[in-house]
Amino acid sequence: MYAGIASALLTLSAGACGPSATSSLPEDDEGRPAPRAGFSVRYELPAAPDRANAAFLRGHRVMEQGATDVNEFVRAGAVAVVGRSCGGEGSAYDPEARRIEICYDDVAQERELFEGAGVRPADVEVAAVLAETFFHEAGHAFVDLLGLELDDRAEEDAADQFAALMLIRRGAAGERQLRVAAREYELSAAAGDAGTAGQEAGVRDEHSSHLVRASNHLCYLYGADPTRNTDLVGTKLLSRERASRCGEEWRGMRDAWQKRLASVAAASD
Ligand SMILES: [Zn+2]
Repeated sequence: MYAGIASALLTLSAGACGPSATSSLPEDDEGRPAPRAGFSVRYELPAAPDRANAAFLRGHRVMEQGATDVNEFVRAGAVAVVGRSCGGEGSAYDPEARRIEICYDDVAQERELFEGAGVRPADVEVAAVLAETFFHEAGHAFVDLLGLELDDRAEEDAADQFAALMLIRRGAAGERQLRVAAREYELSAAAGDAGTAGQEAGVRDEHSSHLVRASNHLCYLYGADPTRNTDLVGTKLLSRERASRCGEEWRGMRDAWQKRLASVAAASD
């Protein structure tokens, strides 16, 4: 299993070299054989109320683009990425099945959250949050694939850091998505955190608070590119004092993930 993780460097200019992600047709392909390597995407038939949500997720290719990005780091080992109706359970990574579940109903929940804050249409925002959700769950998948020993809170923080890293690697467009994800945490906090948007089934107590997660994302953004993100500093979520350490925080988490992905591959080469 460890040989399955490529030692590709987490650089902004890295080109994709892993298997590319393509979604499968038809809509319900429950019976198709397990994928051989990397993250591969499929869609379950949506429950009736989720049809538009499923079409949104498929149309924006959130899971396909995310899978293509993370497949750069995978040589072997298969992770299924499944769009499905979850009945409000929340997107999650299932280590038993080695499967990321992205919930169609998250689309509606996120849309409601942003529209409630006056953002209409919220398509760009919803797609951005789902991209961050995908990468967060992919972070859990890598912790699992690599057999990392992290306590629950540390794993959640590492998954958030992986999500930030993968979005920042996309450049300005990804940075905008990460800003939206931070905004989502802020809105969730303001909404009183009823366990709706962006939450995972059964593990929500292990996450840092919404506002801490928002602050961390903004800190990584500023740390990675202070020029483009100066406007974030001196705000409620990113004090000047914290901002002065964000370069260090960003490099620390980037290097930690780089080591996680590379050292294990090196040990098994
Ligand atoms: Zn998580």
